Amino acid sequence: MTRLRTLRRKVTRSEAFLNLLASVTRGFILCYYATLRVTRETDPESEKLEPGKRLYGFWHGRQFLLVPGFRDTGIVIMTDISWAGEVQTRVLQGLGYNVVRGSSRRRPARALMAMKAEIERGHPAAFALDGPSGPPGRSKPGVLFLAAKLRYPVVPVGTAASRRVCIPRTWCDYQLPLPFSRCVVKLGRPIWVEDGSADTGSLDSEVERVTREADRAVGRELGNGAGRAYMVEEIERTEEEWKRELTPEQYRVVREGGTEPPFTGKYDDFKGEGVYYCVACGNPLFRSSEKYDSGSGWPSFWAPVSEKSLVTEDDDSLGLRRVEIKCGKCGAHLGHVFEDGPEPTGLRYCTNSIALDFEHEKQNGGNG
Ligand SMILES: [Zn+2]
Repeated sequence: MTRLRTLRRKVTRSEAFLNLLASVTRGFILCYYATLRVTRETDPESEKLEPGKRLYGFWHGRQFLLVPGFRDTGIVIMTDISWAGEVQTRVLQGLGYNVVRGSSRRRPARALMAMKAEIERGHPAAFALDGPSGPPGRSKPGVLFLAAKLRYPVVPVGTAASRRVCIPRTWCDYQLPLPFSRCVVKLGRPIWVEDGSADTGSLDSEVERVTREADRAVGRELGNGAGRAYMVEEIERTEEEWKRELTPEQYRVVREGGTEPPFTGKYDDFKGEGVYYCVACGNPLFRSSEKYDSGSGWPSFWAPVSEKSLVTEDDDSLGLRRVEIKCGKCGAHLGHVFEDGPEPTGLRYCTNSIALDFEHEKQNGGNG
């Protein structure tokens, strides 16, 4: 047994095996990429930059499109010191990248200095800003350190695919575009980092903005985990007024972001035909035609009545990144949207029954 394991270890670490695996992977990536319909848009300010003097930054999990898309550009990338990093290095080198080995966890300063030296030879560099270990949506300090030291701007990159699968969990850690999907790569406005600045705010929000724009360009603007709120509070009431209008249970959910226990809400196992309105303001939110049985214990829909029915907001409570859905008119908390819904949207709008008010479709149809 031990001898077998030693042999396997020897084979999988041999030059011949690593090279073969890398070239098969590379071929697969290029064939796969050839099926995608990718368009790229660059902010005019980024277009004006000197090609070698920039750093690219994007969210981890959104990089699949970038690896084949930016091949043969000499971009500098850091790979891990591990067996997988060994394979990645060969794949990337074969695609015309400059690879620096290192880790942001072990000896980060040394790896960054090696990267800096490579960049100073005239190559741009690329970073998954929030790294594989998160927290998602927050840039790590390494890229800021390099940007400040070199006085190079960071060009935020957002990518999106019209159809994609999420790996490895239902929540999107890594997005793999499906073959033949429509994809967008957006290069945003360059962000200059001041020396000694530990503030990642402006960079983070620009990366989020281009990622969100890319999502919107392929028609996936909700539930992407990459967007900030855009609140259209048409109805403004004080909390006292809301308390008077709503029952205590309704108030706890829609104004305080509470969640009703699963399998208890009146619309979970409900199949009436009609429209679901916001319990607080009467805004039409969902139709029965988009309701489906998700098995989650909460009423679930794969699309809202219209784009303006809802607004979304990132929710980082419970140590998870989720996207909260709110009524587009009064801001009532409704639930969350997840990316494990059915086609055609692939989204699951998971709501609290208590936030909804159902009304049966009028017989004979028509408004007359
Ligand atoms: Zn409302």
